[in-house]
Amino acid sequence: MRHAIKKAPLPELREACGVFGVYAPGEDVGRLAFFGIFALQHRGQESAGIAVADGERVACHRGMGLVTQVFGETELRALRGHIAISHNRYSTTGSSLLCNAQPIVVNSAKGMLAMGHNGNLVNADELDAIVRRQGLIPESSTDSELIAHLIAAEWEKCDTIEEAILRVMPRLRGAYSVTLLTNDKLVAFRDPWGVRPLSVGMLNGGHYVVASETCALNVVGAQFVREVEPGEVLVFDGGEPRSHFCSVEPKPSVCVFEFVYFARPDSQIYGRTLHMARRRMGQQLAAEHPASADVVIPVPDTGWPAAIGFAEASRIPFGEGLIKNRYIHRTFIQPEQRMRELGVRMKLTPLRETLSGKRVVVVEDTIVRGTTSQQIVRLIRDAGAVEVHVRISAPPYAYPCFYGIDTPDRRELLGARMNVEEMRQFLGADTLGFLSLAGLLKAVNLPKEKFCLACFTGHYRIPVPREMKADKFLLEEAALSKR
Ligand code: SF4
Repeated sequence: MRHAIKKAPLPELREACGVFGVYAPGEDVGRLAFFGIFALQHRGQESAGIAVADGERVACHRGMGLVTQVFGETELRALRGHIAISHNRYSTTGSSLLCNAQPIVVNSAKGMLAMGHNGNLVNADELDAIVRRQGLIPESSTDSELIAHLIAAEWEKCDTIEEAILRVMPRLRGAYSVTLLTNDKLVAFRDPWGVRPLSVGMLNGGHYVVASETCALNVVGAQFVREVEPGEVLVFDGGEPRSHFCSVEPKPSVCVFEFVYFARPDSQIYGRTLHMARRRMGQQLAAEHPASADVVIPVPDTGWPAAIGFAEASRIPFGEGLIKNRYIHRTFIQPEQRMRELGVRMKLTPLRETLSGKRVVVVEDTIVRGTTSQQIVRLIRDAGAVEVHVRISAPPYAYPCFYGIDTPDRRELLGARMNVEEMRQFLGADTLGFLSLAGLLKAVNLPKEKFCLACFTGHYRIPVPREMKADKFLLEEAALSKR
């Protein structure tokens, strides 16, 4: 993750990542780590890396691009060992550099460690000062490197790596789901708020796998065991995993946006399969914002489950009205506005046979800046639709995220700038409806205390420093202090 030390004139985008780890003597762990992040490719598409350990040494290969661009047979064959971690990353253009790719490898007197991090810290400035006081100059602009340095420094004073991690965790504020390896151990740990998901699976009855999402466990043939708990440190070094908890009281606040959009629909969080949760969001949305229409279509791919749910509940036929070019990546995570605009037309083609002469309900999971949704409405109308009713399976996205999801500053968020009627006019839709927060929570069937809901409510459960907030809110300190 990019930290906030270097203040850019324009607010920075932040990134999301996928992490994976495996402890499996006798298995081709490099290849398993490859398949793990391949399944997590949607979480980050700008760099990928794998580190392996064989009991004596740690080796790592990282590169820019998709997992399949970074790793071929030659690279995979060279990754020998019985422990591996892997990572993929998304970043802004400015920080899209190889030095920011992960896993990060750090040396200490006790040996090497490699680490992959998903999430974003809000006290990176503070940690950067500590690291520099220790005489170290970070090579990258990532908060992840700061975590790795702090752990390496602490490890020199402790007997075990887990002890070092437990000592460092209380100093970290923000989101971190991490896989780390030393020459003989795999360690997985998660922040006390459990903002980003992290799950454990069992492979071939005795080996262990850790992944950001359960979809990666399935891909490598592992059975889901459980989630890594908020504040937990899990150590794998043969035999049963050992569990420890850091001294900070856990306050589970998983990112609700993982449920709405970010995680793959075949993944599970809190025991809920996301496809089913999103389908219920669509059903709830139909109850809250019914429409008289001839067809319900999704914005592919992420709008599919909610559109199915909407069609089921409203008894309006479901149809495919937009065909997606699957080789164009998500527009949400395209760094530049120009690319995002170009991306919509390259990505989506309207299906005239479904749309022409029809009253169309189009279901999408979220509106961020609104420019993509505006173009989609135009595409549907151009294909002959007589009415376009936009339905969003989440509340308006009105506040930026500081915990590891890429969102623009507040001034760019449509939900922050406009009320629903203004947004409808901006999109050029006949009607517009958002799922309420109560409806969203009903669909996931969990109490609101379990979630971070900050991008909908503006209530940040992990306090965000004022300067960091000011950057994203583009407000003067005085205005900010009133919030
Ligand atoms: Fe998720 Fe929104 Fe919280 Fe960020 S602010 S962690 S996107 S719920």
